Amino acid sequence: MKILVINSGSSSLKYQLIDMETESVLAKGNCERIGIAHSNFIYKARGQCIEQEIDMPNHNIAVKLVLGKLMDKNVGVISSMAEIDGVGHRVVASGEAFKKPTLVTPESMELMEEIKDLAPLHNPAAIVGIKACLAEMPDTPMVLVFDTGFHFTMPDYAYMYAIDYDHYEKYHIRRYGAHGTSHKFVAQEAAKYLGKDIKDLKIITCHLGNGSSITAVKGGKCIDTSMGFTPLAGVPMGTRSGDIDYSAAEYLAKKEGMTVSETLTYLNKKCGVLGISGVSSDFRDLSDAANNGNKRAELALNMFAYGTKKYIGAYTAALNGVDAIVFTAGIGENDSVVRSKALQDLDGLGIILDEKKNADCPRGTIAEIQAEQSKVKVLVIPTNEELVIARETMIEAKLG
Ligand code: AMP
Repeated sequence: MKILVINSGSSSLKYQLIDMETESVLAKGNCERIGIAHSNFIYKARGQCIEQEIDMPNHNIAVKLVLGKLMDKNVGVISSMAEIDGVGHRVVASGEAFKKPTLVTPESMELMEEIKDLAPLHNPAAIVGIKACLAEMPDTPMVLVFDTGFHFTMPDYAYMYAIDYDHYEKYHIRRYGAHGTSHKFVAQEAAKYLGKDIKDLKIITCHLGNGSSITAVKGGKCIDTSMGFTPLAGVPMGTRSGDIDYSAAEYLAKKEGMTVSETLTYLNKKCGVLGISGVSSDFRDLSDAANNGNKRAELALNMFAYGTKKYIGAYTAALNGVDAIVFTAGIGENDSVVRSKALQDLDGLGIILDEKKNADCPRGTIAEIQAEQSKVKVLVIPTNEELVIARETMIEAKLG
């Protein structure tokens, strides 16, 4: 059983072919700069990495190239397209139109068109990618897997905004969250690692990457998450502001003469740790700068860690205690300083880090980094969103 996972952006298409018997990646890569000069095609399989500048004027050509490489006599991993049993498509926003993974059908594609506005940069790109795959593989079952999907178990008092209820009903304005596949994966991995039934566990999952979100998981189900209607809410991120008083945004917009849409672009692209530090959105650059005495870089790191800590505290309350805290994604898996700062002085909640285990934490594998006397487990778990998409695709398409 082989599942192709597709993650389409407006000018990119990431792909992975996964063997579901072993849950191992057979081939993966990225089509970059689709529709832009000097498109780049990356293909990794059989221990090789091939990078080629190939003209990719649209997603259809990109999909053709991917399939061609997967079946290539020399570097391919399958002999015919029939070996691909299903395709899972990552979709960023679902609105309330889709509450679970859904088969690609003419009806579901119509609904996808209707919710394009919810993620204007991402959802239209996903539609283009799906159509390109359908053109090449019309008989292969395809499934839409949403970043928001894991969060639909939140109770209404957690997902509602305190706005006029009529507006919620009319426009479905509410908290949806994001990174759902990642939160689901690492919560399940944590339960497996701890040898416990996930139904008996209270877990806080911290997906800390360029975009960051924190989720409270009770009995395997999300009960609250830090991102909101869009990924702009929650902790400060690489370039996103995170939570902010809207009056401050309006005040700034008036002062700087920005429209609503310009203000939103500013809050999404020019704020976060980049805006605070003036150095970079990348935490490696921030650490270097902070170590060299840059006070604004240090402030950015402190704000990020403190934001994470506040959500851990809030979700410990929401869960009425916590059994395990999980760190994942680029920063969560790699940045021991951020982990240390985020868990500083939380012994009152039974959370104590072993600083040496944290600093020596191996990469690319599950690690346990709490101190012996800590009541709460602290785990670092590499995420695997593609595998969750492939698993969901198998279930929804009734494969295997
Ligand atoms: P992601 O969005 O999960 O790919 O995470 C990307 C972010 O992870 C980058 O912007 C970096 O800030 C951070 N990152 C990646 N590797 C490291 C590392 N070794 N140390 C600190 N931060 C890292």
